[in-house]
Amino acid sequence: MAEHKRTAILSVYDKTGLLDLVKGLTQNGVRLLASGGTAKLIRESGFNVEDVSSITHAPEMLGGRVKTLHPAVHAGILARNLESDEKDLAEQNIEKVDFVVCNLYPFKSTISKIGVTIDEAVEEIDIGGVTLLRAAAKNHSRVTILSDPNDYSKFLEELKEKGEVSSESRNRFALKAFEHTADYDATISDYFRKQYSENISQLPLRYGANPHQKPAQAFVTQGDLPFTVLSGSPGYINLLDALNSWPLVKELSASLNLPAAASFKHVSPAGAAVGLPLSDVEKEIYFVKDIENLSPLANAYARARGADRMSSFGDFIALSNIVDLPTAQIISKEVSDGVIAPGYKPDALELLKKKKGEKQRQVYGITLQQKRNDAIINSSTFKEIVSKNKDLTEKAIIDLTVATIALKYTQSNSVCYTKNGMVIGLGAGQQSRIHCTRLAGDKADNWWFRQHPKVLGFKWAKGVKRPEKSNAIDLFVTGQIPTTEPEKSEYESKFAELPEPLTKEERDEWLSKLTNVSLSSDAFFPFPDNVYRAVRSGVKYIAAASGSVMDRAVFAAADSHDIVYVENPIRLFHH
Ligand code: 5GP
Repeated sequence: MAEHKRTAILSVYDKTGLLDLVKGLTQNGVRLLASGGTAKLIRESGFNVEDVSSITHAPEMLGGRVKTLHPAVHAGILARNLESDEKDLAEQNIEKVDFVVCNLYPFKSTISKIGVTIDEAVEEIDIGGVTLLRAAAKNHSRVTILSDPNDYSKFLEELKEKGEVSSESRNRFALKAFEHTADYDATISDYFRKQYSENISQLPLRYGANPHQKPAQAFVTQGDLPFTVLSGSPGYINLLDALNSWPLVKELSASLNLPAAASFKHVSPAGAAVGLPLSDVEKEIYFVKDIENLSPLANAYARARGADRMSSFGDFIALSNIVDLPTAQIISKEVSDGVIAPGYKPDALELLKKKKGEKQRQVYGITLQQKRNDAIINSSTFKEIVSKNKDLTEKAIIDLTVATIALKYTQSNSVCYTKNGMVIGLGAGQQSRIHCTRLAGDKADNWWFRQHPKVLGFKWAKGVKRPEKSNAIDLFVTGQIPTTEPEKSEYESKFAELPEPLTKEERDEWLSKLTNVSLSSDAFFPFPDNVYRAVRSGVKYIAAASGSVMDRAVFAAADSHDIVYVENPIRLFHH
């Protein structure tokens, strides 16, 4: 048999660099076969090239839909250096192909044109090119596949210097070809998902995190979206909130067997709670004393929303159970962005629909992948008590569970204070742990000062709205009562009777009554200062991971205040 003359098949839409490549291949004595348009350009530039039809003995057909789809092409590419493959080729008089040069029809740029029809898009779905790429990439142990014009010069250099292409290069080129077809297929399915599956597996979004980040969408590549939009149109951040808050309430209610609620802002909880009954003072400070027949779910949301009313303004709400009327009544009085829940009683849905304005992460195009954080947090998480005081009460276990599950869905670093089955202070997204502990502690203090008799006795001016009350209370309890105009008058206008500020003594006395608070930290405390700060907000129970060089000092600090300190076996960073 005559010595095999190396053969290249060329079929490119993007003809950049083609002629230099052809020149190099020709200089290396490679036989060239090409599809219609590619062959034409090569020939017109004065190089020798044969049409693919010279080996297929079949013309290009169907207006270009079938060009290279033929056993003479694909057996030539796919054949291995095996006796049985050689025999098959010889019987059919087919020659092996050594190099394939191919890039695909411009589906992406076609569909990005304004007003393109589905028929036009369909014509840009490359068939034979994908087959060439895949066949050559599959057989990369023998065949070189060039799918990117940027690789032509490196390829030619190697061919010239070594007379062949190294296996390392063939591997890299094959990977690139697989990525090229995968990207192409993803673009096609993305296009048809938008055409045929809107609101089924794809949800168009007006924009992403900011109005200039367009286009934006939510989608699944298999099955249907796991939620239905009943009213309004959720935004990108709403969906991030929904997808973080929903598992939080599911896990919380599963762990404690109680209805659970969360109030999210910017992908961290402002509050999270289970539906323990509310005291009269709590009903008052959560602004729900006018709601009749508060259900356990309504109690859960009252707590979640009431933890940090300032932060919860315009929240995204997650509820573990079917939404009932009292829960919907609370929501309808507040400013909120949306609700995710397993279902709605008809009267609850009707009320919520009336509300105005209801409604694989990639960063810089790099896909980050990790296993889901499926750590289960329940009472058995809190077994390893490292402090002298080992008296972990049932109530504390509920509170530590709420705190720890809330942290699992809070942007790190994070520290959470809980009491009565609810978050009372959460410090999220701080780079330093003590800043989380302080921030969360300050919020817990605010929650506590909102129950001070002076606050409960506020005489509001007529017509003051709920958010205005929350803002005025916050200025009062944080000791930031305005002293300069116009803020001073604005603040004072909210009251029928201006309340006297809390004195230092009143503050100290009231704060000393805040006790039996639980605290969880999403990772270890690096210094004892966190414990000392926590104590000032009534913390009695702490759950945190260990592993710091300062562990002993941290535990000793806890012992010095008779705190029950539980070692949480898992770290819970979340981003
Ligand atoms: P040419 O300009 O050479 O006529 O066509 C090159 C384009 O055709 C390349 O983008 C290549 O991926 C594509 N192609 C090659 N073979 C086939 C085929 O059999 N069917 C279809 N639809 N496209 C092909």
